[in-house]
Amino acid sequence: MKYLDEFRDPTLAATLVENIHRRSTRPIRIMEFCGTHTVSIFKHGIRQLLPPTIEMLSGPGCPVCVTANADLDWAIAVAAEPEVILITFGDLLRVPGSRSSLEKAKADGAEVRVVYSTLDALQMARDNPDRAVVFLGIGFETTAPTIAASVLQAEAEGVTNYYILSMHKLTPPAAKAILDLGKARLDGIIGPGHVTTVIGSQAWEFVPRDYGLSCVIAGFEPLDILQGIYTLVDRTEAAQPEVTNVYSRSVRPEGNKVALEYMYRVFEVCAADWRGMGEVRASGLKFRERYRHFDARERFEVHPGPALEPPGCLCGDVIRGAKTPPECGLYGKVCTPHHPVGPCMVSSEGTCAAYYLYAGEED
Ligand code: SF4
Repeated sequence: MKYLDEFRDPTLAATLVENIHRRSTRPIRIMEFCGTHTVSIFKHGIRQLLPPTIEMLSGPGCPVCVTANADLDWAIAVAAEPEVILITFGDLLRVPGSRSSLEKAKADGAEVRVVYSTLDALQMARDNPDRAVVFLGIGFETTAPTIAASVLQAEAEGVTNYYILSMHKLTPPAAKAILDLGKARLDGIIGPGHVTTVIGSQAWEFVPRDYGLSCVIAGFEPLDILQGIYTLVDRTEAAQPEVTNVYSRSVRPEGNKVALEYMYRVFEVCAADWRGMGEVRASGLKFRERYRHFDARERFEVHPGPALEPPGCLCGDVIRGAKTPPECGLYGKVCTPHHPVGPCMVSSEGTCAAYYLYAGEED
């Protein structure tokens, strides 16, 4: 299959693995920021191919996992409003909030619908002019431009029953927060490939400049990831920290200017609440004044009560790279993909789910 098989070539993979083993002489801790990388690393058995000098950690790169319970509780509460049709991407449905989940709210009679694209959400608003359609704006810089585009389209068409609950997160500030916390003791970062297609590799220059670490922007196929790991090992061994883009078939230094223009026309930067990290300054997106009539929080006043975390769940630590899933006492016993306790086990890109599905007992 063109564009896929060439990035899964076993001979080239073996050469890269050999190069990594030859180049790596001292311990190095690498965090992959993105949940798609986490799943690909586990699925292709990449951890098992690496020398013992390399420790791989998973970061906060799953939008479902990092959504704070306070935001999820708000969404569950607004879904109960009789005039509301709540629209969400599927992964969020089963995530337990403080007292309920969107799945339970739906079972209790709330109108909760799942979509696969932003355009489907806007279409639901067009199809239901007598209802208030609230779309959960969850995701990183990859999703926010598409939601901004749907807002601009709604404005152009005069759609007045379409609202967004903006829970968007920006990735570089979260990486900064993790590096500032210092608990993960990182030597290098595999930056998120999809996100960096939008924001550009230049957005990661702070990693070598402010922290003296290397950052590699990699794609999601096995050769992409192995090339990324080799690059991080090589830069660390040479003590020459830098940002390297090994995903040049998708990522440019300046990113996607059109997507960024859409995003910042509708939204502006604000502080955001992250699960496991609390409030991180300049890491979220809120509506600009001009588009505030699309903001679900402006339209609805609901009081979901105080946010609570599931007892015993270490998702916050897992997200920060401070703990691995098997260090959680609930992992694999009480908490499984069939009966998830925390979001990291619910989401298809969650670290706990990836460990459970692919790592077996050995980790
Ligand atoms: Fe939370 Fe379950 Fe992961 Fe433990 S195993 S951190 S309870 S999601």
